Amino acid sequence: MFIESFEEQRVLDEIDAAVGSLKNPRGLWHWSATEGLRRAGGAPERETHAPVAMLRAIARTQERAVFVLSDLHAFLGGNTQPADPQTVRALRDVVRDFRSGELARTIIVVAPVLQIPPELEKDVTVVDFPLPDAAEIRALLAGMIARNGDSVSVRLDDRGRDRLTRAALGMTLAEAENAFSLAMVTGTSLTEADVDVVLAEKAQTIRKSGLLELVPTEVALDDVGGLDALKTWLDKRRDSWLAEAAAYGLPAPKGLLITGVPGCGKSLTAKAAAAAWGIPLIRLDIGRVFAGLVGASEHNMRTALATAEACAPCVLWVDEIDKGFAGAGTASDTGTSARVFGSFLAWLQEKTVPVFVMATANRIENLPPEFLRKGRFDEIFFVDLPDFAERIEIWRLHLARRPGPATGQEHTPELLWELARISAGFSGAEIEQAVVSGLFEAYFDRRALTARDLQHAVESTVPLSIVHAARVNELREWAKLRTVPASKTAGGEGRIPE
Ligand code: ATP
Repeated sequence: MFIESFEEQRVLDEIDAAVGSLKNPRGLWHWSATEGLRRAGGAPERETHAPVAMLRAIARTQERAVFVLSDLHAFLGGNTQPADPQTVRALRDVVRDFRSGELARTIIVVAPVLQIPPELEKDVTVVDFPLPDAAEIRALLAGMIARNGDSVSVRLDDRGRDRLTRAALGMTLAEAENAFSLAMVTGTSLTEADVDVVLAEKAQTIRKSGLLELVPTEVALDDVGGLDALKTWLDKRRDSWLAEAAAYGLPAPKGLLITGVPGCGKSLTAKAAAAAWGIPLIRLDIGRVFAGLVGASEHNMRTALATAEACAPCVLWVDEIDKGFAGAGTASDTGTSARVFGSFLAWLQEKTVPVFVMATANRIENLPPEFLRKGRFDEIFFVDLPDFAERIEIWRLHLARRPGPATGQEHTPELLWELARISAGFSGAEIEQAVVSGLFEAYFDRRALTARDLQHAVESTVPLSIVHAARVNELREWAKLRTVPASKTAGGEGRIPE
């Protein structure tokens, strides 16, 4: 058996408990390169530090037993080092003996990286070892409070404990312990407000993997201009994360694929959705999944998904998913991206934990067709250029977002109307940019922003929809047949000017 986990102690404790609860007792042995092979509670066997010697010693045991081997992966090869052929051979010999023998004997390799030599692939069962769940984290917190009750003042009710527990989901037990310790020594007492300390620690630990990032979500759905159909869809699912919804018989929403014209609010909507639902937003950098050495991408993907699951309920935002998976299945692919892609799809289809996948893509026509099949995502939305009414809203939002003497008196309905009219074909990002460049002009002269500054900014911008008119049209034609418009009025006035 192979257990891939960074939490060696937790795994060893679980194995210990599992072996202890067996109806037919078995001996428990442990090996590491520093301590050699030893029976639980016993002294080390002599000269069993080297893996081959250890495996021979194991082969000689004549009892029902479980042998837990820590870090044997270092001898089994990988991206950075070749396998040690003698260890692999000795392991195969033991496995063969165990299979043919009468006694129930099992080897469990515990390591942070899954590394199975091809010779042994058929003999090994890989067991997932998920990060700690809420019950384990809650027990850890209770234990720490009980132990430190004398020195730390604790002012926490049930709700506070729950919030601290939830904030720590997605970390290993050791990381959660560090975060709680920090929370205890920050300020004068441990209170619900320490959720922020724990979340900041979690943001750090999640970022350490280099694949995931906890994204702050200060955006409300109302900060997204237009896209009414998409916003309504999200709003309707606001409470579907509650236990109450599950009891009602409602499955948690699976995910959305959002594609469309660049700069029209795909990323913004991902942030707003998580904020509206009150659950964390975790961004998966799909490019990084593939950036490692060959073979590591599968490990990266598994780790990322396991972390996201542990943080559930959460939104897993896979930005620019097209860049990551576009190569899958093509002739230039060595097979790695197809495999990683396959495992991601399988996960998407089968996941039972409430991780909402928000995939955003600029060119989904490049994605393998399996991706778009019904059932993978709840819906595929197309975000088009904003139409006239949407542009009014976006101008208003961006002018209002920068309050102050410069913009205060400027956005009258007439001005918004005029700006929306002259900015036909602009994306939300281009409108935002026009507001910013207008402000630069005004600030340069140390005066208030005027309508003229904004008009000038619009006139001096050539929007992407004109520079890449053919491409945008092509995208729309493609989307018409396969996606749902994110705006109720899509296809109207926002068309590229002739
Ligand atoms: P890309 O495909 O280039 O990643 P995107 O569709 O994800 O683009 P966003 O990153 O969401 O676009 O938009 C960029 C910025 O433009 C946002 O931060 C926001 O300020 C502004 N913006 C875009 N669309 C809207 C909108 N509908 N309402 C308000 N602001 C918008």
